[in-house]
Amino acid sequence: GARIETRALSKVYRGATRPAVDDVALTIEAGEFMTLLGPSGSGKTTTLNMIAGFEDVTAGQILLGDADIARVPPHRRNLGVVFQNYALFPHMTAADNVAFPLKQRKVGKREIARRVAEALDLVRLGEHGSRLPSQLSGGQQQRVALARAVVFEPRALLLDEPLGALDKKLRESLQLEIARLHKELGITFVFVTHDQEEALALSDRIAVFRDGHIEQVGTPAELYEKP
Ligand code: ADP
Ligand code: ADP
Repeated sequence: GARIETRALSKVYRGATRPAVDDVALTIEAGEFMTLLGPSGSGKTTTLNMIAGFEDVTAGQILLGDADIARVPPHRRNLGVVFQNYALFPHMTAADNVAFPLKQRKVGKREIARRVAEALDLVRLGEHGSRLPSQLSGGQQQRVALARAVVFEPRALLLDEPLGALDKKLRESLQLEIARLHKELGITFVFVTHDQEEALALSDRIAVFRDGHIEQVGTPAELYEKP
């Protein structure tokens, strides 16, 4: 996994009177599980989308390892991304969804078959590769999305409220799945949520967002344990 650092990162949306993200400096160590926590509208998604390359940066730098990627196109950043609404291709089987990023990268057929099987096993969907998304539960669809996001060995995995669309029981099981995935892959995870319990359960460190900037950064113990 790679270290990610934002320097004086800001975003002002067109027509907005104030910045959605305002001068954010955040360092995420290689292999760390970092959560961006805060209320709706506090700038978490905008920050993640600038790291992913889905939103232009108004000002500032984003370092991935040693390189400033702020102006590198998203597909060249080598980052895995998972959203709340799984965004699977509905006409493709689970296996074809997972194979997609490898085909884009012109990986050979035999290697694709091997890595897709491995990625589906990793999220415990080894038996379900031939199913269409509509034939899978919400939790299973999100696990396909996770497999697709990590199959090309990205330098970091970015997750935006990946559990947000699931009911409570599924949230809990997928939370464990995400923790296990982080442990097994050992890559950097950046996880967006407004749910404090979720952040406490998963994170090495938490960055608390408010009104477009970071209020506090620390381990769950540093932030929430009473002295
Ligand atoms: P969340 O808070 O779950 O990240 P929102 O409901 O705030 O999502 O936003 C949903 C979509 O609408 C996103 O694509 C976001 O970029 C866009 N959006 C949010 N706020 C505005 C706004 N004020 N003007 C235009 N688009 C917005
Ligand atoms: P969060 O992820 O913490 O809910 P966002 O990053 O989605 O926060 O939003 C931060 C601010 O930027 C909010 O005021 C939101 O309305 C605004 N915003 C988000 N997306 C857009 C957009 N596409 N266009 C205009 N304003 C936006």
